[in-house]
Amino acid sequence: MAETEIRDRHRLVVVGGGFGGLQCVKSLRGAGLDITLIDRRNHHLFQPLLYQAATTILSPAEIAWPLRQMLRGREDVTTLMAEVSDVDVTVREIVLTDGARLGYDSLVLATGARHSYFGNDTWADHAPGLKTLEDATRIRRMILTAFERAERLPEGEARRAALTFAVIGAGPTGAELVGIIAELAHRILPRDFRRIDTRDARVMLIEAGDRVLSAFPDTLSDYAAGALAAQGVELRTGMAVTAIDETGITIGAERIACDTVLWAAGVQASRAGGWLGAEVDRAGRVHVAPDLSVPGHPEVFVIGDTAAVSDAAGTPVPGIAPAAKQMGAHVAKILQARLRGNDAPDPFRYAHAGSLATLGRSAAIADFGRLHLRGALAWWVWGIAHIFFLIGNRSRISVALSWLWSYAIRKNAARLITRPDR
Ligand SMILES: Cc1cc2nc3c(=O)[nH]c(=O)nc-3n(C[C@H](O)[C@H](O)[C@H](O)COP(=O)(O)OP(=O)(O)OC[C@H]3O[C@@H](n4cnc5c(N)ncnc54)[C@H](O)[C@@H]3O)c2cc1C
Repeated sequence: MAETEIRDRHRLVVVGGGFGGLQCVKSLRGAGLDITLIDRRNHHLFQPLLYQAATTILSPAEIAWPLRQMLRGREDVTTLMAEVSDVDVTVREIVLTDGARLGYDSLVLATGARHSYFGNDTWADHAPGLKTLEDATRIRRMILTAFERAERLPEGEARRAALTFAVIGAGPTGAELVGIIAELAHRILPRDFRRIDTRDARVMLIEAGDRVLSAFPDTLSDYAAGALAAQGVELRTGMAVTAIDETGITIGAERIACDTVLWAAGVQASRAGGWLGAEVDRAGRVHVAPDLSVPGHPEVFVIGDTAAVSDAAGTPVPGIAPAAKQMGAHVAKILQARLRGNDAPDPFRYAHAGSLATLGRSAAIADFGRLHLRGALAWWVWGIAHIFFLIGNRSRISVALSWLWSYAIRKNAARLITRPDR
């Protein structure tokens, strides 16, 4: 394609190759735009299975795919690995961390969310959250190293601390993580160690609210609490952690020595709102117009976890992958309509298919509105849905085999301890 032809085309910059950004790019196939997709990482990450990479069931390559490779057949898309640090809306340019600038005619910001420690940022050093592949491999290292350390320690306080695991926050990520850690300690690892009994491990789930998985109906939430307790998870609801350091956590007046603390309690939107000088909510999400554009800047859209959007009934659209994908597809539709000369603002409508959460081996809950599922049936629905949404047959087959190996034979394959800096 001639360079002049490309330059004459409408320049769309999409920042973020996650669920929202990637869907937007995919939906614009054949639309005749000159698209640049920018991400600070070289891969698209399937975050819903991150906890399995963090807990030795899957390896990182099974849940992430190079963006460049995914888009190799799209002559209209240029993929750049770079980090955006600002947007200059007056001259319509994005600014990269190395100072480079890139002009746009339309801009889509799909930069997702990050952890929030509610102002206690020093906790991040001791209690990592789970958002990236690096987080997952760090958490896997922390969990496996704790068992290794315990094997070498004499019986006593230090060994007990090594065998104590605390997960803060009982939303889907916390419940999923804690279920698999309990499974590892109580069922998968015992035969691998000689000096310790890994079944002695104390696996705690701590939640400031009064229920686990509080976004689910009471009956499912109660079932989840029972299923986790049956797996040996110690539930502490209605209790907020007040301190976290290298030796453990404090809950009210109680001090608990523990080597492994994982954070699953809060999220904060990416910094896109600050780049735009836009109005944001408490979680930093940009208040967008009904068509997902930024008020005053119809050429800029914010989607996915970075956008504060409500459905027709005024209920906030949840920060989940299907919502981000629907927003990406919606913006693609608007851009195509505009290129055809139709500027009518088209409000975004979110269609919620249902909510799912797993609780370790063969237990899950599913909320499809009037239909509630729990136990093994919900787990199968969850498994099939996730296999379906993975990218490419190779990943589907590989993940299905890893699950079969892990669940039927009770041996998790991805148990290597790696250190990036050694
Ligand atoms: C552990 C975990 C489990 C989850 N489980 C589920 C689940 O079971 N079901 C479900 O539906 N949802 C789940 N979610 C939520 C879901 O993953 C998110 O809602 C979804 O990823 C949001 O899509 P997004 O496009 O807004 O952002 P993301 O998918 O997070 O993508 C954002 C992209 O932007 C890039 N980026 C960020 N900042 C910059 C920058 N400054 N410059 C360049 N690139 C940048 C990032 O590298 C990333 O690739 C889970 C999330 C996590 C963390």
